[in-house]
Amino acid sequence: MKGLLASVWNVIRMPLGFLVTLKHMFKKPVTLDYPRKREPMAPRFKGLHYLERYDDGTERCVCCGLCAAACPADAIYMEPAENEKGERYSEVYEINLLRCIFCGFCEEACPEEAIFLGQEYEFAGDTRESFILTKDKMLVQHPRKDSPFKKILRRVRKAYGIAESQ
Ligand code: SF4
Ligand code: SF4
Repeated sequence: MKGLLASVWNVIRMPLGFLVTLKHMFKKPVTLDYPRKREPMAPRFKGLHYLERYDDGTERCVCCGLCAAACPADAIYMEPAENEKGERYSEVYEINLLRCIFCGFCEEACPEEAIFLGQEYEFAGDTRESFILTKDKMLVQHPRKDSPFKKILRRVRKAYGIAESQ
């Protein structure tokens, strides 16, 4: 008799298990289909560096070296040069990502608002050279492919000291 009751109970319990499965089939998945889908990072996330330009396209960096002086990991290397107007700029500007600890001190030290840590975090590589971030990889495009809304957002972020994405 006891065995029969247990079998009946098992038969009742089995569809209950399927009900749990069915219930989750119609719920929004908690996992992400990465890398096809990517969640935006937190606004204060410190990812890959980028170098800003003025609105007319000239580079903001004047190669003053303050970012390199502030860098606790000694990860920044630069060489200065002068353009045809006699303005100073960095001919070479490199960040060694193998040394960088993504502290953001370079961004804070920069008097020209030239260097920022963006939101990019996908920069895996298999050679040491691929981790040397050169100036041509860091300089933002000109003209920037932006909507007017993004421009306003960037100014607001700058005013409130929130790191912006590239
Ligand atoms: S984020 Fe920090 S460690 Fe990396 S380059 Fe800037 S100052 Fe140096
Ligand atoms: S990024 Fe800023 S702090 Fe660094 S050298 Fe250029 S202007 Fe100076």
